[in-house]
Amino acid sequence: MSTDNEPVITGGCYCGAARYEVRGHPIRSAYCHCTLCQRFNATAFILTIHYPAHAFRWTHSETPEEALDVYSVASKPWKYRSRCKKCGAAIASYNANTDKWSVWGGQLDRDETTKIKNWDVIKPTAHIFYDTRILDVNDGLSKWTAYENESQRIG
Ligand SMILES: [Zn+2]
Ligand SMILES: [Zn+2]
Repeated sequence: MSTDNEPVITGGCYCGAARYEVRGHPIRSAYCHCTLCQRFNATAFILTIHYPAHAFRWTHSETPEEALDVYSVASKPWKYRSRCKKCGAAIASYNANTDKWSVWGGQLDRDETTKIKNWDVIKPTAHIFYDTRILDVNDGLSKWTAYENESQRIG
């Protein structure tokens, strides 16, 4: 599936022990205001970026088992969140129901001007689960009660 000119997005944890890459264009990229993201990440919202499973791979030298702890919760047992064993950052999750990986914008690599590399490829298109927001965001992007184009638009 890979071609020479497809974009390669790279990112990782705070300490660098856990690293990944995703290839090509995401299925979805949105700011998520759901209460799961808020509780898991202790933040108002995150930039979540979804890729098909074949586009994702770990790139650190240790095996996944050496570098990562994997968690799931009772309400979503099909979702596996990987956390760096050294710095504790959760950096990606795998959804076994949809066979997709999620990565998060805050952990993508930056260029020398501090901007996220390949922003045009992964930039978000909407705010999702906006009903449970902590912060109003007045950017031009559409706002949805759940996923973009699959729920009620509220802004
Ligand atoms: Zn780390
Ligand atoms: Zn969320």
